[in-house]
Amino acid sequence: MGINVDKMKIVKFPHPVLRQKAKPVDAVTPEIKTLVAKMFELMHEGGKGVGLAAPQVGVSLRIFVTCETQDPKDDRAYINPVLTVQDTVSEDMEEGCLSLPDIRGTIRRPVKLAMDALDIDGQPFHLEDDDYLARIWQHENDHLDGVLIIDRMSLMDRMASKRALKELEDRATVVAPKKKW
Ligand SMILES: [Zn+2]
Repeated sequence: MGINVDKMKIVKFPHPVLRQKAKPVDAVTPEIKTLVAKMFELMHEGGKGVGLAAPQVGVSLRIFVTCETQDPKDDRAYINPVLTVQDTVSEDMEEGCLSLPDIRGTIRRPVKLAMDALDIDGQPFHLEDDDYLARIWQHENDHLDGVLIIDRMSLMDRMASKRALKELEDRATVVAPKKKW
C-alpha cells in the first residue's frame, strides 16, 4: 500500500481526499498499526482533537480513532466501523473539525448508537453509547463517506462560515472541483 507516516499531517478542506468514499481495510497489517499510531499522535498534537479519520491524514481507508476525554488512556481505534442507530431521538450539538479550522456549526444527530468494528489487533468489538462518544463516532464515520460538517450544519452556520471556507480555499495547494455552498 505504501503508507508513509513520516511527513503525514492533517489535511485541510478543500483537499479532495476529504470528499472520497474510503475503502475497507483488507487486513490489520503492521503498516495499518503504524498508521493508527500516527493518527493518535496527530489527533492529540494540537490539544483539541477528540477524533480523527484516516482520510484526514490523506489515507482513504475506513479507519478512525477517538479519545473523548483527550486523555491518551482512552485512545481507541476503529477499523471498518459499522454504526447502527438504536433510537430515533436526536439532539443538536456544536461541532468543529480538525480539517476545517475556525469553523463550527450546530448539527442534529441521533443520540443512541451501536458500534461494531475491528480493534488494532484485528479483533471485532461491539460498543454502545448515548453520549459524547456516539457523537464523535458519527462525525468520524461521516469522514469515511466523504461527508463534512459543512454539509450537515444549518444554512445560518454555513453562511457564518463562508469567509473561513473561502480563506481555506484560497490557501489550498490541492484543490477539489469547485462546489457551490
Ligand atoms: Zn472532522
